[in-house]
Amino acid sequence: MEKSLYPTMKIDEINIYPFNIETEEIFKIATMSLSGAKNVLVEIKTNQGLTGWGEACSFRAIVGETQQINLAAAVELREALLGKNPLEVVARTEEMEAWLPYNTTIRSAFDMALYDIASQAAGLPLYVYLGGTRRPVETDLTIGIGTPEEASEKAKKILKKGFKMIKTKVGISIEDDLKRLRAIREAVGSEIKIRIDANQGWDRVTAVQCLTSYEELDIEFCEQPVRARDFEGLKYVSDHTKIPIMADESVFSPWDALKIIHTKAAPLINIKLSKSGGISAGLKIAHIAQAGYISCMTGCMSESGLANTAFTHFAMANSIVKYFDLDANEGHVNEPIVGGVVFDKGQVIVPDTPGIGAKPEPDFIKDLQKEKR
Ligand code: MG
Repeated sequence: MEKSLYPTMKIDEINIYPFNIETEEIFKIATMSLSGAKNVLVEIKTNQGLTGWGEACSFRAIVGETQQINLAAAVELREALLGKNPLEVVARTEEMEAWLPYNTTIRSAFDMALYDIASQAAGLPLYVYLGGTRRPVETDLTIGIGTPEEASEKAKKILKKGFKMIKTKVGISIEDDLKRLRAIREAVGSEIKIRIDANQGWDRVTAVQCLTSYEELDIEFCEQPVRARDFEGLKYVSDHTKIPIMADESVFSPWDALKIIHTKAAPLINIKLSKSGGISAGLKIAHIAQAGYISCMTGCMSESGLANTAFTHFAMANSIVKYFDLDANEGHVNEPIVGGVVFDKGQVIVPDTPGIGAKPEPDFIKDLQKEKR
């Protein structure tokens, strides 16, 4: 029997880097607009030669974090972790949660790096380390808020790439949203699934009016029609429309998931690791959802292939995750990430190398040295 790495493993060094991703266009949702992504990379090194990587991408209007907040918070979290055993992942994530309870996105980057180390130490790809099996993960591609003509063009391009699901953002103008949805449905025909996301843009009455008028367009489900804290509004909308409602911004924590189930506020939950604080809390949400017979989606923000690969491992490992919105790095060209997911038409495929199986290129990290915290 080989000796276990566990008893003597320690976190030796943690490096934190700001990491920006340029995008060709502004991505608009009901609550904010985003031009490019301002992310943070976390590198955790151990005394036994293993290195784990994590990434944080915060949507400020949703999680209340920015790149600058994340960089400052990451320096604090480093203090909480240095010298400790990275293989005790749950203990480490609970310490981080006790240290900074509200900074979920930056905590998710540390949690990701810890799971990367733990699954590498076990010699397993992350989804197997989490108890999963390889299964199909079919993602949508997302179209932001824009004109009906732009949306129609984008929908046709998505179809050409072989994707069979489109997600589009709504929630600003009732008339424009309906025009855009009609243009997309016309462009893609009746075979393609269309899901929508209002990102908290409506009040409950407007939501029911809008969703009723969209019923003819065969919408698969609608994410977060009302404000995050409006659980009663979410239930009102669920009770008054035929389109299934998915709680997204309303569910950050396992306790939020429990509340959704107890109050029958929505039949679907979107689990995002950047909202929950990482895989550790995401697993708790998935298990609560499973116990409550609530199907889930796994979604993303604007991450690189590093974090998107971790999300896909998480999704594969949880059978209650039946919907996938894992298009974060689809279409990124010249992304400085080695390994990670590949897209085959709509399928997202993770590598079978131990750990997450994705990390930044060494030359890219060299370039980031002077930004290092
Ligand atoms: Mg959403």
